[in-house]
Amino acid sequence: MQTSTFQSLLKPHLAGLEEYTPIQPFEVLSKRLGVPAGEIIKLDANENPYGPHPAVAEALAEYAYYHIYPDPQQTELRQALAIHLQKEQSQPGAAHPSVPVEQILPSHGTDEILDYLCRLFLGPGDAIINTPPTFGMYSFDAKLVGAEVLEVWRTDDYHINVEATYNLVTAATQDEESSRPKLLFLTSPNNPTGNWLPDNDLRRLLDLPLIVVLDEAYVEFAFETSRAPWVLEHDNLVIIRTFSKSAGIAGLRLGYGIFPEWMMPVIWKFKQPYNVNVAATIAGLASLRHIDEMQSTVEKIRAERERLLPALQDVPFLTPYPSSANFILCRVDGFNVEGSGDAAALKLALELRGILVRYYQKPGLDNCIRISVGRPEQTDRLLDELHRLA
Ligand SMILES: *Cc1c(COP(=O)(O)O)cnc(C)c1O
Repeated sequence: MQTSTFQSLLKPHLAGLEEYTPIQPFEVLSKRLGVPAGEIIKLDANENPYGPHPAVAEALAEYAYYHIYPDPQQTELRQALAIHLQKEQSQPGAAHPSVPVEQILPSHGTDEILDYLCRLFLGPGDAIINTPPTFGMYSFDAKLVGAEVLEVWRTDDYHINVEATYNLVTAATQDEESSRPKLLFLTSPNNPTGNWLPDNDLRRLLDLPLIVVLDEAYVEFAFETSRAPWVLEHDNLVIIRTFSKSAGIAGLRLGYGIFPEWMMPVIWKFKQPYNVNVAATIAGLASLRHIDEMQSTVEKIRAERERLLPALQDVPFLTPYPSSANFILCRVDGFNVEGSGDAAALKLALELRGILVRYYQKPGLDNCIRISVGRPEQTDRLLDELHRLA
């Protein structure tokens, strides 16, 4: 790679930054494996195998104003989201007040909100609390702005270690040398472990003197309901949600944040005026208009998860973890009897059979694969191949 003397003008903290490892594009993989794209069973990125509601494509095709800039205030989408949240909370067992439209902000995927929060609160000398193993974007975005990542490892069954979090925050706050923890990132259900963060743990963590960011990317797949209304009672809570998983429009990039009231003015000042494009807006509105049908797709995926879990338990070299999301984490043991690298060997063996899963080889996820829940016929193929490999 060419170097330049101007490189020294870059912010120094960027030099040590690890690059984000992108997954291989679908088309590239299809070529490499010699399997037509339509036959590849893609269970590696937690995408919705049913895709969006047909009304999404119709609405996109009919729209006649693509030459006009989007509404910077996203008024229609924000109203639809407020109504959606209200409806969601009127389900039995979830009678909470609803979130006002003023505290909802759509975004270009939830990635954008993570980036906003890091840039709003963090700089060199500041820190986030991360709870690995979890989603990689929190530490990535924090490092991008020069903040430190303080880690509180999850327990063996992947629960948050609340005691250790308290101890770390207390120690860091008292130590003048330490960077200052300002944001705590939580994920419920967690990716890639699939477990739900219990109310009591969340309540205790909200008593900490920092902003708690609760990522609910997979909440629609859980039997529990969203904590969106908690934002009304906790002015240090931000909830982020997405259309990428349950609504099946990951490719269009649409997410939203639910913020405490005091944070809204600065978020509005900060955000790019046209952060959400017209296509994502139309797709989001169409999805919300058909939310009941989308909910039945989510229920299909949930039912498939409940079928997949015991079936994976029957595979001799897999130990699956129960999940509240649209994926199942499995420990691999005794697949490649030669020794280490069981999960890598299994990922490769499945890939050669046209089935993609996510594989991990890092602390807390040693020899693990994560399988997204697909359509029933995809599950059947997967299980067939797994048993053939056993
Ligand atoms: C998939 C995922 C998201 C969604 O990100 P988008 O930018 O909205 O596509 C957010 N958080 C977690 C933990 C995820 O796995």
